[in-house]
Amino acid sequence: MRPLVAGNWKMNGLDSALAELGALRQRLAQAPVPEAEIMVCPPATLLARAREVLAGSDIELGAQDCHPLVSGAHTGDISAEMLADAGATAVIVGHSERRIDHGEPDSLVNAKALAAYRAGLTAIICIGETEAQHRDGETLDVLKRQLRGSVPEEARAANTVIAYEPVWAIGSGLTPTPADVAEVHGFIRGVLSQLLGQNESGAMRLLYGGSVKPANAAELLFVPDVNGALVGGASLKADDFYAIIEVYR
Ligand code: PGA
Repeated sequence: MRPLVAGNWKMNGLDSALAELGALRQRLAQAPVPEAEIMVCPPATLLARAREVLAGSDIELGAQDCHPLVSGAHTGDISAEMLADAGATAVIVGHSERRIDHGEPDSLVNAKALAAYRAGLTAIICIGETEAQHRDGETLDVLKRQLRGSVPEEARAANTVIAYEPVWAIGSGLTPTPADVAEVHGFIRGVLSQLLGQNESGAMRLLYGGSVKPANAAELLFVPDVNGALVGGASLKADDFYAIIEVYR
């Protein structure tokens, strides 16, 4: 299965990220890493400009969130169809920053994933336990609940990617051990198999996310059942993002 390395810019990128994206594009043209699929997810307002920077390249464009509905009276929201129109081929749903900052429950994440499918986008569905849940030994229970609630019955390996991002590892410089990541990803694969059947589960990409850096990428990304990375901070710099992608060469 071809791994996916996706960069989540979050609410960043107005200053230098488009120039960095141009540099990344150039770097990949000079020294391609065909083994990996590469995606960047800028804020919605930068999708059109990022699309111009990427025109003619293999780097894909994703968005960071969508509304469940196609259109209507929802001030400030953006539909999956609008993201597709702006050039996105994927959308992140259920990121912990949305779940926590905006109180998004699993049922809403599920509806957003369905909206992604309706618009022909891949849904990158994020799950992950908080520090307190981790400390209290609740990680696997939390992940099972999130998967059952957030992953639609319609999810298939072709339209869905799961990203495991422990909340305590995001932006903190902390990461789980490779053994812990292996255990969790194996568990996620098992739950998906119960929900969607063995074929879809076996072919679905499971990303690890949370403080992925050039220095730890090889150690985290070659763990069994890890099929790529969702990268936050390190995706804003062409050198760092390229160094992470390059582990797949
Ligand atoms: P980070 O963020 O790589 O900066 O820890 C990852 C994410 O939240 O997707």
